[in-house]
Amino acid sequence: MVAPLPSYEVVSAKGIRLKLKDGTELVDGMASWWCAIHGYNHPELNRAITDQLESMAHVMFGGITHAPAVRLAQALIDITPRSLQHVFFSDSGSVSVEVAIKMAIQFWGAQDKPHKSRLMTVLGGYHGDTFGAMGVCDPINGMHERFRAVLPNHVFLPRPETRFNEPLLKRDRDSLEQAFESHSNEIAAFVVEPIVQGAGGMWFYSREYLALLRELCTHYDVLLIADEIATGFGRTGELFACDHAGIEPDVMCLGKGLTGGYMSLAATLTTGRVAMGLSQDGGVLMHGPTFMANPLACAVARASVDLLIASDWKKAVADIGIQLDNELKGLTNPPAVNDVRTLGAVGVIETHNPVPVAELQRVFVDAGTWIRPFSNLVYVMPPYITEPRDLSSLTSAMRLGLGAL
Ligand SMILES: *Cc1c(COP(=O)(O)O)cnc(C)c1O
Repeated sequence: MVAPLPSYEVVSAKGIRLKLKDGTELVDGMASWWCAIHGYNHPELNRAITDQLESMAHVMFGGITHAPAVRLAQALIDITPRSLQHVFFSDSGSVSVEVAIKMAIQFWGAQDKPHKSRLMTVLGGYHGDTFGAMGVCDPINGMHERFRAVLPNHVFLPRPETRFNEPLLKRDRDSLEQAFESHSNEIAAFVVEPIVQGAGGMWFYSREYLALLRELCTHYDVLLIADEIATGFGRTGELFACDHAGIEPDVMCLGKGLTGGYMSLAATLTTGRVAMGLSQDGGVLMHGPTFMANPLACAVARASVDLLIASDWKKAVADIGIQLDNELKGLTNPPAVNDVRTLGAVGVIETHNPVPVAELQRVFVDAGTWIRPFSNLVYVMPPYITEPRDLSSLTSAMRLGLGAL
């Protein structure tokens, strides 16, 4: 039997600090799986949720509508690429990916093209833990190898190898073009994390790849689903990662940072074309979550979006990025390190071998930080309000941890 990893009891959280039961305070480098973009216990977010609680915590969203949902939908339509005009709310990122996939399949069915029912994606992706989403995760890194036998057989392309700011490599261009040529007739949608592959390997790839992908999707009539669950709301230096390439997807999934880390909520946005196409198919999308558009979650999400847009988030993220780059760049020395890369408020150190998580975690906690490595990746994605001094604590802890390997 494998011993379970130790866990640390948190009793409260404020700003960028987590407080443990023994009183220890940790600078949080993870933003609770990348969600708490404004930090914890934020007075404005607290107020939004408690105000909403006074009027109603929840009400069904069938045959009923309410202002928190409508206001949030409008705010999302206002800040996402222009062609995205329709919003479907669900409870978590994984479900928003299920919804996106169902939109695509149902859309083509309604256009009398039911043969367009497979998906295309790239290796190294992560889209969630439910079955539809698992089907487009990396077959090996995606944590779902165990379930391979019951997952649908989608088309996987190699991971885009061209790095973020580099011109597109020929092999990336060829693999995309060939895949569309061979498979586009049977493909409903291409599912992709734009620019940053998150939980599948913390990999940053070229904006030219994304731009070419958009072109090919349009040319071959394949819907483009951009999973911005990790990248949305400024994390990569643009409000949405699609903005790096100036592209508009047909469907966009949002989650994680949507409520500023307060509650589970996700949204799937789509274009007028897809929404109208779906409406021809019995009038509705065949999906109806019980807790759809929960008012508490919508209220806090709206407050989080307002807070972000009113702030100078672009400078905050850029400043974090510059400092991460400066302080992590020198870390290529420890023999354990294979690659160092940063983009926006994301700093990643890739090691040659998987790291001993429990031991490293201890080193980080003893250094007064919360950094959760996985596989061969030690990375930080801190709240945007992180001050330079606290960011230095995170990078020093990383240096310490990697030196100890
Ligand atoms: C986290 C994540 C998901 C899944 O979201 P959950 O809320 O955990 O279901 C899907 N796609 C990406 C890119 C993610 O980072």
